[in-house]
Amino acid sequence: MARRKLIAGNWKMNGLRGDGLALARAVADRAQAAGAAAPELLICPPATLVALIAEQVASPLIALGGQDCHAEASGAHTGDVSAPMLADLGCRYVIVGHSERRTNHGETSAQVRAKAEAALAAGLAAIVCIGETLAERDAGRTLEVIKAQLAGSLPKGASAANVVVAYEPVWAIGTGRNATAGQVAEVHKLIRRELGGKVLDADGVRILYGGSVKPANAAELMAVPDVDGALVGGASLKAEDFMAIAAAAAS
Ligand code: PEP
Repeated sequence: MARRKLIAGNWKMNGLRGDGLALARAVADRAQAAGAAAPELLICPPATLVALIAEQVASPLIALGGQDCHAEASGAHTGDVSAPMLADLGCRYVIVGHSERRTNHGETSAQVRAKAEAALAAGLAAIVCIGETLAERDAGRTLEVIKAQLAGSLPKGASAANVVVAYEPVWAIGTGRNATAGQVAEVHKLIRRELGGKVLDADGVRILYGGSVKPANAAELMAVPDVDGALVGGASLKAEDFMAIAAAAAS
């Protein structure tokens, strides 16, 4: 089944109004120039910038997403952002289960699943992140960890239309050290197979790779079977690099 590649930028906790707006505009301009050749493009700015970017850089070529959401739609959860709030701002996606959330906020797969279900209930597509630590890889536990995280994090009602899986080895995030094409191929193949037992249209679910993707390694990584795009952190903060990755995915 043909899957349209998705290049998603996770800006993390970066950007004030001025530079965030400038970055979004630069991505939109480049997307316009790339035209139909570009894959699907998504930017996930900090929650503080989503409304501003939605209002000022409304571009049909760039989707907006949140970086996290609460499992509840509303209530006494100081500092949190809900999926309906993101949808209300014009978001179409939300990242859940990023390793920085799992590590820094102690999020479990059960919590990630609840967040993903909240996303689906709000009409958002959930980008469900999974990935092993270096210790787990060194102990030969990568495939077992990935299987367990996937099974534990996928929302009820997951389909190719509302879920994207992002394989992000923790040791490759923000370190400059990306997984090799062989390592990525092995894990993506496993994810595709595991999805088969859990999602009806498993062949249509996009599986992104994330972890130090940059213009120099994008072509090789995007050519790996079952890699349907990238979740990009650091390199998404430069429009030129982000769009070079998108171009590599398109070719
Ligand atoms: C990420 O945060 O999802 C990520 C992949 O970061 P980086 O590209 O900087 O490794």
